[in-house]
Amino acid sequence: MTPTPPAGQLAALDASLDVVPAAGDRRRHPAPAHLVFFHGPMDCGKSTLALQVDHNQSRQGRHGLLLTQGDRSGTPQISSRVGLQRAAIELHADTDVRLLVRDRWAAGQRVDYLIVDEAQFLTGAQAEQLAELVDESHVDVYAFGLTTDFRTRLFPGTQRLFELADDVQRVQVEVLCWCGLPGLLNARVVGGAVVREGATVVVADTAPASQPPADVPEVASGGDAAVRYQVLCRRHYYRGQLGPTPTVAGQLALR
Ligand SMILES: [Zn+2]
Repeated sequence: MTPTPPAGQLAALDASLDVVPAAGDRRRHPAPAHLVFFHGPMDCGKSTLALQVDHNQSRQGRHGLLLTQGDRSGTPQISSRVGLQRAAIELHADTDVRLLVRDRWAAGQRVDYLIVDEAQFLTGAQAEQLAELVDESHVDVYAFGLTTDFRTRLFPGTQRLFELADDVQRVQVEVLCWCGLPGLLNARVVGGAVVREGATVVVADTAPASQPPADVPEVASGGDAAVRYQVLCRRHYYRGQLGPTPTVAGQLALR
């Protein structure tokens, strides 16, 4: 049995709650916005999650902007391998995200939140601009990106978001190496061999694997050596073992 406090104590408790200043202050100020970064290897469903977050937010009557990078289609969009897609704004290395948002506001458009796909390609400055939008303009930012490049190094945008985000979450959909262990590393495969050094190139996570990236130097110089990416566990990444049934070109786009 829970003892019932005397009426006098309850009244005192009510009175004490009334004078808790933080609760009242919080009501008078806009709710704090957040910078959330979701990351993972290729194929882990980041873009699907990005579109789901956008859907959930817009159902609450909020208005967002969808941003992406490295989209070569000419009609930028966030698309996921499960068939969802939405038009997006293409960011370039010199885009100031703050100005992009302020231009919308100047045009009378509401921007309550940003969805940033392919966030691994952000510059450090752009990641800082996102943080400023959160703190100074109360815009919520949901960023989605690859964790590491084919050399197992953090992408520059990823690194800065790790440093600045309020919340960093690994996407929980597990991508499996051919051996069945969780695959966390994106291997670059050229001519059937894992390549661990070289220039990082801008290849959108969602670019169809059947379309060899045009700006990969090995393709240009190496003749017909096909470049593709395959998710491997750490052991098989370093051993360079691609499995008994190598992924055929185009398979990534189907998953
Ligand atoms: Zn493995």
